[in-house]
Amino acid sequence: MEALGAALGRSSSGLFESLLPPASLHRTPFLPPSHPLPFPNASENLSKLSKPLLLRCSAGPARAPPHGNPSVWRRRDPPGQETSGSDAEGHHRRAPPRRPRPPQQIVSREIWTPSGVVKVTPKPDFQRSRSRRPPSNSPRSAPPERKVDPGAWRLYQVKVPLDVDPGKDDISVHSFLREEVARRLLCKAERLQGDVISIVRKSFDARKKEKPVFVYIVDVSAAAVTAAHSKAPHNLKKLKMKPGLFERAPADSEQTTKGLEYDVLSNEVGEGSLELDGYDDTSDGALPVRLTGRTAPRYVGPRKDRDELEAEEEVERREESEESASSSRGDATSGGSIQKEKAIVVGSGPAGLFAALALAEAGIKVTVVERGQPVERRGRDIGALMVRRSLNADSNYCYGEGGAGTWSDGKLTTRIGKNSEEVREVLRKLVQFGGPERILVDGKPHLGTDRLVRMLRAFREHLEGLGVEMRFGEIVDDLVIQSGQVTGALVRNLSTGASEVMSADSVVLGVGHSARDVYTMLEGHEVHMAQKDFAAGFRIEHPQALIDRIQYREWADSVDRGRGKVPVADYTLAAQERGDNRSCFSFCMCPGGQVVPTSTNADELCVNGMSFSRRASQWANAALVVPVSAPDFVEFGGDSPLAGVAFQRAMERRAAAMGGGNFVAPVQRAADFLDGVLSADPLPSSSYRLGVRSARLDELYPDVVTASLRQALLAFDKMMPGFVSPDALLHGVETRTSAPVRIERDPATLQSVSHPGLYPIGEGAGYAGGIVSSAVDGMRVGNAIVRTMRGEGAESSEAKESEFEAALV
Ligand SMILES: Cc1cc2nc3c(=O)[nH]c(=O)nc-3n(C[C@H](O)[C@H](O)[C@H](O)COP(=O)(O)OP(=O)(O)OC[C@H]3O[C@@H](n4cnc5c(N)ncnc54)[C@H](O)[C@@H]3O)c2cc1C
Repeated sequence: MEALGAALGRSSSGLFESLLPPASLHRTPFLPPSHPLPFPNASENLSKLSKPLLLRCSAGPARAPPHGNPSVWRRRDPPGQETSGSDAEGHHRRAPPRRPRPPQQIVSREIWTPSGVVKVTPKPDFQRSRSRRPPSNSPRSAPPERKVDPGAWRLYQVKVPLDVDPGKDDISVHSFLREEVARRLLCKAERLQGDVISIVRKSFDARKKEKPVFVYIVDVSAAAVTAAHSKAPHNLKKLKMKPGLFERAPADSEQTTKGLEYDVLSNEVGEGSLELDGYDDTSDGALPVRLTGRTAPRYVGPRKDRDELEAEEEVERREESEESASSSRGDATSGGSIQKEKAIVVGSGPAGLFAALALAEAGIKVTVVERGQPVERRGRDIGALMVRRSLNADSNYCYGEGGAGTWSDGKLTTRIGKNSEEVREVLRKLVQFGGPERILVDGKPHLGTDRLVRMLRAFREHLEGLGVEMRFGEIVDDLVIQSGQVTGALVRNLSTGASEVMSADSVVLGVGHSARDVYTMLEGHEVHMAQKDFAAGFRIEHPQALIDRIQYREWADSVDRGRGKVPVADYTLAAQERGDNRSCFSFCMCPGGQVVPTSTNADELCVNGMSFSRRASQWANAALVVPVSAPDFVEFGGDSPLAGVAFQRAMERRAAAMGGGNFVAPVQRAADFLDGVLSADPLPSSSYRLGVRSARLDELYPDVVTASLRQALLAFDKMMPGFVSPDALLHGVETRTSAPVRIERDPATLQSVSHPGLYPIGEGAGYAGGIVSSAVDGMRVGNAIVRTMRGEGAESSEAKESEFEAALV
């Protein structure tokens, strides 16, 4: 709690200040970049590497700026007025005696940086001390985007051995990293001091036979490189650009995607790259499910202080929210008045929340209607399921604040281009709501349920501060349609049973893939929908120690149940189709996690994986799934757009029956699945807390699915020897890997093609397959609605829509 509190309390100005040169240098004026370089030879050499030279020094010997920030060069003092430091011959000068500090004066200064001129107004001391107080639960301000220095070089594959790296949780530029960067740049590490290196990505690679390494992508200021070679400029000539190893850093983050497509961390083994419309496999670990809803960071201190503090913070929070709401509204009106427009967002999953955020920030009046409960109460409902087997059909692992992504693994990996500006925007928001900053650079960012629950409270407070009305425990039963246009929704309060008609200019539908009642309602209105392929199979579970050993060999002990230097081991497996057999993938791998029931109906059983931030459980689970499509759905509804839903439901009912009811999961050892026999007792231990029962899972799916899974298991055991060990247990069934339906939308406006005013978003609509992609889709649609309301063109969304869909197929 304290750590989270400290993180939340860190102000953006504090972050910004840490990027500035040391205070001692603030007294010295800085020069603009127009001054000629003092070392012409180096300049010539540099021109071979970089086009625009961003920084030139006026006079004096070629040397790195003393404060280590090559973007800001210090003017030499006029003769006779030197302060301290070395003179041109390198002799040390004595600093003049210190004068007493004058009364505090707040003076804004302009600093030239490679990204432009920045005006800096230091905070008065009393404000700085205030920002160090224990934090409130309110969201911190958005983290600054890591500015790509336009004069920077990007180095890939910078490897630091495991034994010297500080480990997975550290994202600082430590001395060994600095050494390695210097070695690659043929200069001395001492010459790369200060903020000249920034980490773009940090990953762990244990695939090779030799020692595991942390692999970094870093940006290094070009001016710093020049300065570092000032004494031996000929070394600059030896630096050769090489795509994928040493490149010019892209000028904007959109462009970063290309160079970073590969992920050295992935532990990926397989027979080729197979695409699934979801998030990547990776995941996280588990503590026992906490059944209390008390997850808010709480300040522990003397009662009086705490009360005062909380009151003060409340005032501050309101002021901040009002300020941000009014400034956002100001922006919104500048493009056309949309202040009177109303939107209903149905569902508070990642898609719904990010759509609501985009709309509210533009000044639109938003109501979020969520059938499930806020996280505090949702935790209790999930507790009732796990302890008393009592399923609340509207508040469970799939339904409630944060949607299916809350009691999840919280992997933030995505297949839609992890460095695209939209993905980075979502990650920055998550940091703003309390996520750890390292998700911005981690090769496989991950949150875990414990963090997600806390972050969602901050997200909610932020939305409410923007004027969003959050209505939990209320379900949208129907749409209001007038002359083919959706103009509102019929909303029922689940505790009182009272229904009301809410009208709106736009209804944003982000109900997730489990809301089968909504699909049926849409079908009744002839909203255009189409069948969509998805994947089905089982969730396999192994002891985490086995996976650590297979993946990390003698370094497996470094995992230390999530506390060690290396990430808890994961895997991504893929087998391609062969003969009549289809491809098969591992999906949503949860290292150190647990298998959980994700049913929304007591007659059906489906499972998924979740974990906590430390990934500390003794199990590793992952879905092993095979694509299914229209031909598989023929006997379940033929051409109906909902035939895939019927297929899912039928498999889930079979699984519930095989388990004997009461959410007991049917299981089979992987080896027995291959042999087609019932697994004998004793069964391997399972993290699934509602009990398991031996069953013939090999008889559950259509033959082609079973045959494909068998072939893949054999292949996976070759790729990861021990994968089909006696402890490997298949749990039934994994059917909700993505939506079985696509609600068709207009590529330009992103509205339903058949029903204008209706905006289907996220996973349930068939446009996303994970937390991040759903959030991106929600944000994108929210922005499209704003553009439509302002009467602006929609070309950009059209282009992006097809790009986005292509990434998902
Ligand atoms: C156990 C589990 C683990 C997962 N782990 C990961 C992971 O690690 N990483 C990852 O990227 N993805 C993960 N996923 C998938 C991810 O959660 C989803 O892709 C994502 O949440 C989809 O977002 P969404 O907003 O489109 O829909 P959802 O998150 O499903 O949200 C839909 C919301 O709509 C509400 N709703 C439905 N019908 C109505 C109605 N009629 N009226 C009002 N409200 C309604 C629901 O209650 C729900 O809260 C996991 C999913 C599960 C179930």
